[in-house]
Amino acid sequence: MKRRNFLTSIATITALSLGPSLPSFAQSPQNFGLPNLPKERFHSVKVGGIEIIALHDGATRLPLNEKYVTNAPFAEVKKLASDLGLSTDYVELPFTAYLIVSGSRRILLDTGLGDFGTPTETTGKLVNSLSRAGYKPEDIDTVLISHFHPDHISGLRNRAGVFTYPNAKVWVSNKEYDYWMSEKNMQEAPERKAAFEVVRRVFIGMPDSMLQKFEPGGEVTPDVFSHAAYGHTPGHTIYEVKSGQKSFYYIADMINVPAFFARNPEWMVASDINPTAALSVRKQFLSTVAQSDALIGAFHFPFPGIGYLRQEEQGFKFEAVKQ
Ligand SMILES: [Zn+2]
Repeated sequence: MKRRNFLTSIATITALSLGPSLPSFAQSPQNFGLPNLPKERFHSVKVGGIEIIALHDGATRLPLNEKYVTNAPFAEVKKLASDLGLSTDYVELPFTAYLIVSGSRRILLDTGLGDFGTPTETTGKLVNSLSRAGYKPEDIDTVLISHFHPDHISGLRNRAGVFTYPNAKVWVSNKEYDYWMSEKNMQEAPERKAAFEVVRRVFIGMPDSMLQKFEPGGEVTPDVFSHAAYGHTPGHTIYEVKSGQKSFYYIADMINVPAFFARNPEWMVASDINPTAALSVRKQFLSTVAQSDALIGAFHFPFPGIGYLRQEEQGFKFEAVKQ
């Protein structure tokens, strides 16, 4: 990889995860060693008559420092990590996209880092995971994007600019598209410049026949509904799959790593653009859906990221489905 691209990728990851200033590991990302990848790269569950397949895109390690949780004392954050047997030096951040197999439809939820993640050894595995699950990129008819952070959209195009899912319509919320495509917003947020550039690389030149902008709050494809969950980013959108009495919610980045942020729903992660709005979305969701028997899938939960959020004395616990 060319040095410039390499640094851009690092900047991208750190900018989306840790806010304005680049930590020192930006120069040497291997400090924390390579993340552990799961043996299985896909995992399938049934929601009524619909199949949901978790697709592993990879994982990275980010420094656990005072910037990661913006509104809790760092000592408290470190103590929790230590109590849970997690590293107190880094956060292991997995990436998981989901495929909805419904009748003849093949609907992909987010697209991972593609050619642009770091470290390259442990990111950009989505197409491989898809193929292990028995599907080709050409089979995908719909891509539903939750938001425009690089780990969710980079995989839409490869380094040569070719669209990875050539037969898919790409659905994006109006608000998300308008925020990130605005030159004024880009100039006003220099700390997010790398992310704005990724959005331009992906969306400039995307044919009108491929791009489908929409207003969240309705059915996007049969049995799949969108809900506005603005806060993490201005147009962050979650998706609900319904089959009979069963529901599956893809909550994307509404909750970051659950060990920290499901347990402490009040904690704010550095990558939230509007943390107050993100918090109220999270509380609202947790107070209703998480107490039903709906399954959830999340992008940064430990693979396969599918399970239930159960209320505990302190916050919520993520109970993963059995693999
Ligand atoms: Zn993310």
